[in-house]
Amino acid sequence: MAQPARAIEVRELHKRFGTLDVLKGVSLAAKKGEVIAIIGGSGSGKSTFLRCINFLETPSAGSIRIHGEEIEMRPDRHGDLHPVDPRQVQRIRTRLSMVFQNFCLWQHMTVLQNVIEAPVHVMGVPKDQAIATAEAVLKRVGLYEKRNSYPVHLSGGQQQRAAIARALAVDPEVILFDEPTSALDPELVGEVLTVIGDLAREGRTMILVTHEMAFARNVATRVAYFCNGLIEEEGPPEQIFGAPRSERLQRFLNPAQ
Ligand code: ADP
Ligand code: MG
Repeated sequence: MAQPARAIEVRELHKRFGTLDVLKGVSLAAKKGEVIAIIGGSGSGKSTFLRCINFLETPSAGSIRIHGEEIEMRPDRHGDLHPVDPRQVQRIRTRLSMVFQNFCLWQHMTVLQNVIEAPVHVMGVPKDQAIATAEAVLKRVGLYEKRNSYPVHLSGGQQQRAAIARALAVDPEVILFDEPTSALDPELVGEVLTVIGDLAREGRTMILVTHEMAFARNVATRVAYFCNGLIEEEGPPEQIFGAPRSERLQRFLNPAQ
């Protein structure tokens, strides 16, 4: 029987910035419904990895498959790989959403306008329908009452929940989170983690870069520890947090020892 298509399959991904080797051959696959947590020190290449998957960054080598579809890429004169077909990128992008550390909401738009922007202007969803979907996702993240507010009038936790609503509005098959709670005051972290935890439990495929180790242990089906542009260790949360094999990972989890 054929293997079910992987939601995401990255092979031997390399990324150089000038002479800096940031990703040195990262391979990671997420099956449908998997929640993969990426942990690792600052500068280990976690954000660059997510940005390559979402075409915000051009890899230097390697391959990316999304839902079994290989992204056709061709090198430019610097050796960076660019997708050959913009329509393929456009099509695949609508199946992936990304949530950033600092929310990246459009400040001149209300919460509702932020949420309907991509459905209406990128995907061509009729406005009435986009508004109905937006209202439903805003209810899910507990932000319906704030739908007509501008981001500047929201707390950080509310802004991040608005950004998650925006990511959900295109009904993505995969959501990428890049340290979604790192910019928040500690008392606001919980409300955002609750929303992400609910999404994880409903079987959405997610790749989540996080420093919230207890949360990663709870929601992740698999954890990858990034170190110097490579996955140093990968496994179920019980292994990564309970019985890490790599000494570097042991030191990362227990810096005092
Ligand atoms: P992490 O998210 O794990 O903290 P990043 O992927 O953001 O790490 O960065 C990895 C390394 O790549 C860092 O040394 C960073 O300075 C460098 N880097 C990231 N983006 C760029 C860029 N656009 N140009 C040059 N260097 C970059
Ligand atoms: Mg980062």
